[in-house]
Amino acid sequence: MSTIPTVKLLIAGEFVESRSAEWRNVINPATQEILARVPMATAEEVDAAVTAGKRAFKTWRHTPIGTRARIFLKYQQLIREHIKEVAAILTAEQGKTLADAEGDIFRGLEVVEHAANIGNLQMGEIANNVATGVDTYTVQQPLGVCAGITPFNFPAMIPLWMFPMAIACGNTFILKPSEQDPMSTMRLVELAIEAGIPPGVLNVVHGGEDVVNAICDHADIKAVSFVGSTRVGTHVYHRASQAGKRVQCMMGAKNHAVVLPDAHKEQTLNNLVGAAFGAAGQRCMAVSVAVLVGEAQAWIPELVERARKLTVGNGALPGTDVGPVISCAAKERVEDLIARGETEGARLELDGRLPSLAGASSEGNFIGPTIFSGVKPGMALYEQEIFGPVLCIAGAASLDEAIAMTNANPNGNGTALFTQSGAAARRFQEEIDVGQVGINVPIPVPVPLFSFTGSRASKLGDLGPYGKQVVLFYTQTKTITERWFDDSSVSTGVNTTISLR
Ligand code: NAD
Repeated sequence: MSTIPTVKLLIAGEFVESRSAEWRNVINPATQEILARVPMATAEEVDAAVTAGKRAFKTWRHTPIGTRARIFLKYQQLIREHIKEVAAILTAEQGKTLADAEGDIFRGLEVVEHAANIGNLQMGEIANNVATGVDTYTVQQPLGVCAGITPFNFPAMIPLWMFPMAIACGNTFILKPSEQDPMSTMRLVELAIEAGIPPGVLNVVHGGEDVVNAICDHADIKAVSFVGSTRVGTHVYHRASQAGKRVQCMMGAKNHAVVLPDAHKEQTLNNLVGAAFGAAGQRCMAVSVAVLVGEAQAWIPELVERARKLTVGNGALPGTDVGPVISCAAKERVEDLIARGETEGARLELDGRLPSLAGASSEGNFIGPTIFSGVKPGMALYEQEIFGPVLCIAGAASLDEAIAMTNANPNGNGTALFTQSGAAARRFQEEIDVGQVGINVPIPVPVPLFSFTGSRASKLGDLGPYGKQVVLFYTQTKTITERWFDDSSVSTGVNTTISLR
């Protein structure tokens, strides 16, 4: 009998073994060690999770604000206490360094802290005397069973973008984590249950395409939140919308950092290297294109030298800067794109294939920092989201040319401008058509006082995850207009017009 642990489903408050005949391995990308087996849940199991969510909603929707808030206060404390333990699981299954894994959890923890403040966030509006003796007010009521589908690259932060805010608003939830690294997500789910989330309020099913399609189609799921690639997100958006659901999809990216020659050179080069190669480039907000304007193009040799100094290896080992990419298939894909870049005429300034490894297994999916200059629209390197440690450098003669290039790219997830000029910064933030804009900030992911945004091909749906927008996403606004009569009220007689008098 196999001694490899299995990843459980969570249905109606119980962690249960799937009856599926279809399983896949969860693999440590730094060593190829099999860590666990994860099931592709059956249609009946998805249905059982939704039924549990539907049943729990009947009581959870009426749970007082304070009770909901206190669960998330407890939850944030439990996450803090277990952050190192969860980070170790995350690094083993995902590959990023331990420090970055803690960052992944911390950015999710901030959303949990925000969910603990639900009382202030889920408030309606009131207008007094909209007509004589008539008041109108709104309430933000939960929708019912909501679902979340998450990608492999942030197995802590992105599930925590979703279920805490949905549940804090009074919904119940079905989470479908990435099948590539579900173990750290499941540890966070266990802690959520320990914090007091009642049976059926949070459920988890594992799987791939079939489970995602079942979620999109299920008549009892009211809203779907998706984070992942543009191809899958576009499919989810259309399929779930067609089934009458509210849908938000946060998708792929090609983030351009524009560098003006007046930028602070030292800070800019360090920021570019960190944002391009951190997490092995597997962040939706990674800088994947640097547009060097005018004389900033002379900085390429220094940029290359800084990138060359990064240590590639197992993220669990101290001193590692760049861990492996998630799978053998991802490694092959990135290496193919590097080879294509060479044949398409870009200049390979730094080749990360066959990197020297600091004490790590050569079996791991390692690619070192890779830099191309002379990258142009039309090249596969530029057109595709590489999602690996590859930085494309393009040149531009002016800020306007750099803005035009960024806006012509189909993606609009994140961007950054490096400059010392306030006027240039203002022009950039006005003209750029990208959701998240950093001014001398390379990865401008907003804290939960704001919402995660995104434009054009990077996002479908109007409302973003967390912050104020997600409260609107996970609630239905109801408008109540009321009048009360007492004996002193003057009868106005029968009124057949629409006006309120
Ligand atoms: P992915 O699209 O392959 O997978 C995302 C989810 O969809 C997973 O849960 C997966 O099981 C499921 N899925 C995969 N193939 C499917 C199919 N054919 N039909 C239905 N469901 C399917 O994405 P990934 O590789 O896990 O994550 C990387 C991608 O996510 C990158 O494109 C990255 O830019 C994007 N991302 C975007 C954001 C953002 O906020 N914009 C954040 C993180 C990641």
